[in-house]
Amino acid sequence: MPPAVPTRLLSLAVKQTLRSSQRVCWALHQHRPSSTVAKPAPAPASEAATTTPIPEITDFFPHLQTHDSIHKFSIDQPEVFWGQIARSRLEWQKEFQVVADHDLQKSVFRWFPDGQLNVSVNCVDRHALLHPDRVALVWEKDEPGQEERVTYRQLQDLVCRMGNVLRECGVGRGDRVAIYLSVSPLAVASMLACARIGAVHSVIFAGFSAEALASRIQDAGAETVITADQAVRGGKVIHLKEVVDAAVAKCSNVRRVLVGTRTGAQVKMGPIDVSLDQALSNASTDCPPAVQNAEDLLFLLYTSGSTGSPKGVAHTTAGYLLYAATTHKHVFDYRDGDVFGCVADVGWITGHSYVVYGPLANGATTVLFESTPTYPDPGRYWETVSRLGLTHFYCAPTALRLLLRYGDDWVLRHDRSSLRVLGSVGEPINHEAWHWFNDVVGEGRCTLADTWWQTESGGIMISPRPSAPGAPVNPGMPMRPMFGIRPVLCDPNGKEMEGGGVEGALCVGSIWPGIARTVYGDHKRFVDTYFAPFPGYYFSGDGAFRDEEGHYTITGRMDDVINVTGHRLGTAEVEDAMMEHPEVSEAAVVGYPHDVKGEAVFAFIVLKEELQSTQEEILADLRKLVRSKIAGYAIPEVFLVVRGLPKTRSGKVMRRILRKVAARKTDDMGDISTLADPSVVQSIITSHNALHAH
Ligand code: AMP
Repeated sequence: MPPAVPTRLLSLAVKQTLRSSQRVCWALHQHRPSSTVAKPAPAPASEAATTTPIPEITDFFPHLQTHDSIHKFSIDQPEVFWGQIARSRLEWQKEFQVVADHDLQKSVFRWFPDGQLNVSVNCVDRHALLHPDRVALVWEKDEPGQEERVTYRQLQDLVCRMGNVLRECGVGRGDRVAIYLSVSPLAVASMLACARIGAVHSVIFAGFSAEALASRIQDAGAETVITADQAVRGGKVIHLKEVVDAAVAKCSNVRRVLVGTRTGAQVKMGPIDVSLDQALSNASTDCPPAVQNAEDLLFLLYTSGSTGSPKGVAHTTAGYLLYAATTHKHVFDYRDGDVFGCVADVGWITGHSYVVYGPLANGATTVLFESTPTYPDPGRYWETVSRLGLTHFYCAPTALRLLLRYGDDWVLRHDRSSLRVLGSVGEPINHEAWHWFNDVVGEGRCTLADTWWQTESGGIMISPRPSAPGAPVNPGMPMRPMFGIRPVLCDPNGKEMEGGGVEGALCVGSIWPGIARTVYGDHKRFVDTYFAPFPGYYFSGDGAFRDEEGHYTITGRMDDVINVTGHRLGTAEVEDAMMEHPEVSEAAVVGYPHDVKGEAVFAFIVLKEELQSTQEEILADLRKLVRSKIAGYAIPEVFLVVRGLPKTRSGKVMRRILRKVAARKTDDMGDISTLADPSVVQSIITSHNALHAH
C-alpha cells in the first residue's frame, strides 16, 4: 500500500481548489476568452512583464506586471491561470465550466473535465482555415537538399484521408494504434489522424527491436500497426516492415498493418497488410472530427523505469495539448513566421511535444529531421539551419558533445544568422558543450535554454525562460520553473528542503495540466512510482541542487535508470536480456560517465562454471541479445567478466560499488562490511584493471 497523502497537504490542496474554483467562476463571468476581447497592444519589450508577452493573463489581471508575480499567480491560483490560457490558446467544441477536479488521494488528475475538443482541429484545421498556404511541416529528409514542405491545407487533407482509412478499417474511439515510423509527414499525419477519430496512438521509436515493439503492442492491446516499407537514416536503410512482421508474429491481437512507402522497396505483403498509398488515394478528404472529452486518452508512450518492463505513460487530450503549446510558446519565445527546428525523433516525448503537438497547436512551421548530426558530414545541422532559415534549434547535449570534437569550422562555414533561440534537452548539458553551443553556434547572441522535463511531464518543467526580460541565463542549468510548476527538493525523510545551497530529490508540489494521468493498465504502478516515494509530491526520479538564487541544476537520476545519449534505459531491462544467455549465471548493469553519450552502459557478467563457448563468443552473443531484445543504443559499452557480484547477505546487489568500479573511483569504496563476501570487491577491481591493461 502506498503511503497516504498527508491530511495536512490534502486539506490545503482542497482548500486551494475550493478557493480557486470560486475565483474560476468569477473569471468565467468577468473574463471571456481573450480571443473574443479586443486586446490592448502588447507593452514594449522593455516594459514587458515576462520574456514572451502573456496578454491572456496580464490584460485581465493588471496587478500581474512582473514575471515573478505571474509565476506566483500560476501556483497560487492554477485554475484561474490555466483556465484563462486554455480559453485563449485552444479551440473548444464545448467550453469547460470546471477547470480542475483532482483526487489527490488517488493520484487522479482531471483538467477541464467537462470540456470537449479535438486535438487535430486545434493542430491543423483552425490554421488551415486562417493560413491554408502556411507551411506546417518541413520534412528535412536524410539526403540534404531534398526537403519537402507540407502546408496546413495539405496536412489537413492527409490527416483526414488517414483518419478515414483508419475508420474504414474499423478503428474507433479509444482503440490503440501502434505507429512504427521514422520522423516523416506520414508519422505526423498518423498521430493526428488517431487524434481526429479519437483513437489512442503509441509511437514506438523506429530503432527498437521486433521484441521491444511486440511487447509494447501487446501491453497496449493495439490491433492496428502503422509502418512503412523502410526508413532511411544517415545513409542507411532500416527495414521497418521486416521488423513489424517479426513483431506481429508474436502478437495475435494485431488485425491489420498499414504499410506506407518511404523508399519504394519491394516488401512482403501478408493477409493483414494494407497498402497505405492505395488506401490514402481512395480516401475522402472529409473526415468529421470526433468530439473528444478533455480527459480522453490522446497517446501512450513507453518509457523505461527502474524495475519491470517499460511502462505506457498515458497522456490525455486537453491538458497535454495546452501544456505543450504553452511551453512551446513561452520557453522558446515562438513567434509567427519562425521556423522551429527540433531534431528529435517522433518516437520520443520531445518529438511528440516539440516537433508535433506544441508547434502545430501554435500554427508554427515545424521541421521533421530525418537524418543524423554527422550525415553526410559534421556540418549537417548547421547546413540545415542555413538552408531552411531556422529560428530555433533544439537538440540533445550528446549530439553537441559529438560535434564539438570535429572543430568549429563545420559550424562557421554555414550561415546561422536566422537563429534566435537554442535549446537542449534529455540530459545535463556540461559546460563545454553549453559554451560551444552558445558561443560558437549561437555566436553569443541567441538565448540558450537548457530544458529539464520528462515523458511523464508532457512538456518542459524547468528552463531559463520564461523569466523576467533580460534575466541572466547561467551555463549548464535549467534554472527556473515554468508557469504552474513548483519544484520542491525533498530530503530522504520526505521533508521539503528550504532555502538555497541544498540538494535533494527533485519533486513537484503542484499539479500542472501536462502531467501524465496514469501508467496504462496499471494505476498502482503510477502511484507507487511517482507519488509514494515522497507523499504529497510528484517525484521525478531525478536529484537536483538549488543555489542561493533559487536556480536549479539537475544532478542526475536517483533510481536504476541510465541516461544513454539522452534516452532512458532501465538497468533491469538490459540485465533481463542478458540473463537469457544459457551460459550467463548473473548480470548486473550500471551507468558510468561517458564523454559523448553522457552515460554509457557497463555490464558485469558472471559466467557459469562449465562453458561450451569461448568468452568472446559469449560476449558477442550478449551484444546481439541486447540489440534484439531492446535496441542498439542499449548495448553495453564495457563487459567485465567477474567471478561474483558484490551482494549483501540478503542477496541484494550493491550497485553503489559497481558504479564506483565502472567510473574508476575505487579509492574510497565506503563500507563493504555488510557484503556476504567482501573479497569479491577486490577481485572485481583486479579484473577491471586487467581489462584496461589490455
Ligand atoms: P525522458 O522521459 O526519456 O525524456 O527522460 C527524462 C529524463 O532525462 C529526466 O528524468 C532526466 O533524468 C533527464 N533529463 C531531461 N532533460 C534534462 C536536462 N535538461 N538536464 C538534466 N537531465 C535531463
